[in-house]
Amino acid sequence: MTTTNNTNNNNNNNEDIPANANTECVGPSSESAGKASACAGCPNQSACASGSLRSPEAIAAAELETAQLQSSLSAVSHTVLVLSGKGGVGKSTVAAQLAHTLAAQGYAVGLLDVDLCGPSAPRMMLGSTQQQVQQTIHKNGSGLWMPVYAHNSTNNNNIAVVSISFLLQDRDQAVIWRGPRKNALIQQFLAQVDWTGETDGLDYLIVDTPPGTSDEHISTVQYLQKAGDTALSGAIVVTTPEEASLSDVRKELSFCQKTGVRVLGVVENMGTLETKLDQLRFVSKENGKDDTERVLQLLREKCPEVLDDYTVTSDLFTVNPGGTEQMANAYQCEFWGSLPLDPLLLKACEEGQCFVEQAASDPNNKAAVTLKDFCKRLTTVCPVDMSE
Ligand code: ADP
Repeated sequence: MTTTNNTNNNNNNNEDIPANANTECVGPSSESAGKASACAGCPNQSACASGSLRSPEAIAAAELETAQLQSSLSAVSHTVLVLSGKGGVGKSTVAAQLAHTLAAQGYAVGLLDVDLCGPSAPRMMLGSTQQQVQQTIHKNGSGLWMPVYAHNSTNNNNIAVVSISFLLQDRDQAVIWRGPRKNALIQQFLAQVDWTGETDGLDYLIVDTPPGTSDEHISTVQYLQKAGDTALSGAIVVTTPEEASLSDVRKELSFCQKTGVRVLGVVENMGTLETKLDQLRFVSKENGKDDTERVLQLLREKCPEVLDDYTVTSDLFTVNPGGTEQMANAYQCEFWGSLPLDPLLLKACEEGQCFVEQAASDPNNKAAVTLKDFCKRLTTVCPVDMSE
């Protein structure tokens, strides 16, 4: 039987804990299995109370699950979760652009989208071609899912993408699933995907999670930890700088502490807006009319250097300057920096493109510089041997 992992920190036995158990699981062989306060709400509560999880069949099933997880994840060097306390703060953007940038640097990358109710990975990795690949995900001869592959400009097919969206008849369909069904799909995505695929394994598997600390997070972490001590390299935590997001991110950091997930870095997003003057719209105060063309023409004639030499920035969240870094310090986590809000980054995400490559002609683009720095930090803290 496999030993338990540090997710279940109340458990003192060396017994196998179901991957979908509550975080404080006492273990199925414990005297208080199914009856302890930590069992409340656990999907295994009645099975534990009845002792059925100790049956030889249940033990064999758990061992098979562990073996499948280990086999699938053995093709991956580093699995990294991208977490956020709140929705809309740019978690999927960071996950997708890290995947694109690492792939552009020559790494074999996977993006696993376990945000089952709001999957963004297909759009952000494949752009409009995601419609063509709808339902093209299929199982190979060994019964393992084959990822859908995204191209980048320098390396073909080195981004493997798996998302629930590929399985839906209609990608606009809502996924209205309860916890156990979501857990089962996450288990399949982690244990039954052939990450070897077209890339001969992955250097980095980036996992885009839903916002918050829900069932999906607990399951993902527990399945990964069940695959072994090194199966999960850590998490990148994304927040915007306002207190409404920071307070939710503190819960995320506390979740990481409780579940033994190493926080690799805290990333601030959208603190500053950064753009070019000619990307702004100029609206007349007098009549509300869009006078952009006229204003830009005036600038071109009278002071072209303002258009050519300057970037326009604006701090969107002035209420809490430095708040993200302070929070990261308070949790003894590394602060990786602040990714500005850049309309061209949004466009790249909509088109499924690598922003860093698109912005290559502008070496001073802050968002591109920051994304490259995030990748450098990630590849430093989670190194892979690129010599082969
Ligand atoms: P989450 O995954 O946290 O819900 P998303 O990554 O989907 O958030 O981001 C929400 C929206 O904001 C998307 O349209 C995305 O392209 C945009 N966005 C996120 N971060 C940035 C940024 N730094 N610059 C421009 N647009 C951004």
